[in-house]
Amino acid sequence: MTQEQTLSLEFKTEVQQLLNILANSLYTEREIFLRELVSNASDALHRIQFEMLTNRDVRDPEAALEIRLEVDGEANTLTITDTGIGMTRAEIIENLGTIAHSGAAAFLKSMEEGQRPADIIGQFGVGFYSVFMVADHVQVTTRSFQPNAEAWTWTSHGESTYTLQPADKETRGTEIIVYLKEDASEFSSNWRLEQIIKKHSNFVSFPITLEERVLNQQTALWREAPQEVEPERYDEFYRQITLEPEKPLRHIHVVTDAPVNIRSLLFIPGRWELGPLQLRTDYGLKLYSRKILIQEHNKDLLPEYLHFVEGVVDSEDIPLNISRETIQSNRAVRQIQRALTKRVLKELQDLAEEDAETYDRFWRTFGAFIKQGVATNPVHQEELVDLLRFPSSRSGGALVSLDEYVGRMPEAQEKLYFILGEDMASVAASPHLDYFKQHNVEVLYMVDPLDGFMIQMLQTYKEKPLQNVDAADLTLPEIDEPGDKAPETLDEAEFDAVVARFREVLGDRVKEVRASHMLRDSPCRLVSPESGPERELQRVRRLLEKDFEAPPKIIELNRKHPLIRNLAARIEATSKGADPVVDATIEQLFANLLILEGSLPNPSEMVPRILALLEAATRSQ
Ligand code: ADP
Ligand code: MG
Repeated sequence: MTQEQTLSLEFKTEVQQLLNILANSLYTEREIFLRELVSNASDALHRIQFEMLTNRDVRDPEAALEIRLEVDGEANTLTITDTGIGMTRAEIIENLGTIAHSGAAAFLKSMEEGQRPADIIGQFGVGFYSVFMVADHVQVTTRSFQPNAEAWTWTSHGESTYTLQPADKETRGTEIIVYLKEDASEFSSNWRLEQIIKKHSNFVSFPITLEERVLNQQTALWREAPQEVEPERYDEFYRQITLEPEKPLRHIHVVTDAPVNIRSLLFIPGRWELGPLQLRTDYGLKLYSRKILIQEHNKDLLPEYLHFVEGVVDSEDIPLNISRETIQSNRAVRQIQRALTKRVLKELQDLAEEDAETYDRFWRTFGAFIKQGVATNPVHQEELVDLLRFPSSRSGGALVSLDEYVGRMPEAQEKLYFILGEDMASVAASPHLDYFKQHNVEVLYMVDPLDGFMIQMLQTYKEKPLQNVDAADLTLPEIDEPGDKAPETLDEAEFDAVVARFREVLGDRVKEVRASHMLRDSPCRLVSPESGPERELQRVRRLLEKDFEAPPKIIELNRKHPLIRNLAARIEATSKGADPVVDATIEQLFANLLILEGSLPNPSEMVPRILALLEAATRSQ
């Protein structure tokens, strides 16, 4: 090769930064570079296998699909060769150099956030570069499957540039020569390579050979009989397909032939990284037909709300030559979706019954997905609703299911009561709960922004209505009043004067001022004039639309409360004229209610008013 044919190109900036970090830091898990290179080789083999289902006009159609490792202890090199799809010159530049790799920036960011590179590098489309943890320089020689494509060699020292030059390679696929750093010579030893392959790449479905010996098992674990698989192998399989170090919460092995053939292994992950993973659009199950990978990330085999589930689906009822565009409308795929969805929901129900602690972990990690399911998908509504959990006024921080709630309802209670709010502290302090606390009627706390959406789809549970406690028209179960009588109440004229003052001060901001039959310990509360989903919808709109103004509510007063009685006395004393303390108190009571609802736009407004009230309260008699 002459010097003139060698072209030198620059890496994209993020890639340069990434390389710099990888090349200059010492990581304890450097071995994962091999996992990444083998996974790329395996992807390349899957892709040529898929291509050849419909196209025989490829280079070397008879070549065995395999990955070979070769070492040279003296030269301190490791060579990884595959007979996969290969790369054209343009593809090399795109994949290993300049254009793609928006993932590099995201990867760098999560490293700054303290993630270990070995745990995450495979997830950002930058796994290839991990080779520079162990390599002084790397030479990739590749020839695309396309019959008229030329072979090219890419070389880089992991600094800011790489070179490209024409190569002599005759056969299809990719050969990567890793010139190991001095301190990485362990990776040119046979036993070490065997150990790494067994640990990280055992389930790769193509043979990985070293000196004519196949190192990996290549088992399609999902095609084995569930009773013959030891639990550790499920965990290991999960680790290898997801590159996720944490164990899954549960595995689901589905083997069925009717109404549709399914061999599937699904996993509920043990954790869910919001943040970097939110960028992932590449979720989805691996779809196989007869052990041939048809699609790496299929999104049609489970409903959207179950997209946290990982795994593999293999079905003989899916035609091998199916095009990616028609997968979605394929009848077998729809049948598989139905069967898998049912199964996953059933397994979650079983988990809840068998192991409350693990289910609790599941719920805290994935509860939002289940709520999304309830809000959007009425198909499996019943099963989904049984998976819901909420804190409640009587659970002391624990989570309760609707079934448990109904199970301990007193006979006279006909509805399930809930309160929507911003957080636990504000719902627990809500005046709406006065009555319920006094009578020990349980109220579910819905403090997640998703709850407002969800509750619109959830009008009843086991034929019992769900009832928001802030409704104006609440009728309550007949439960015995406790013996202690509340203090004397105001007479009509006194109370009317208080109502009139509230109307005057609050004006259009409230729809009505009236007495409450529900309050005990609180002086007042806000209730919605509307009933039903309209109210929850307003809540949702307030969260979504910055300028949304909810229609005015009704304020209800507790005529037995000392504060209301004091106001009545002051109004009487000033013979119904203006009294700044009365007016400021009314303003502040209203502001308190808005705070509890999470709808006070500008809390600092309260400061001068509170100062004035404090001054009045501390004035010596
Ligand atoms: P990812 O595998 O997540 O896409 P990588 O950094 O591991 O990210 O690889 C980048 C890209 O380089 C791959 O998507 C693929 O297109 C290409 N590539 C890497 N290794 C090979 C190979 N052995 N054969 C063909 N293409 C490869
Ligand atoms: Mg990769």
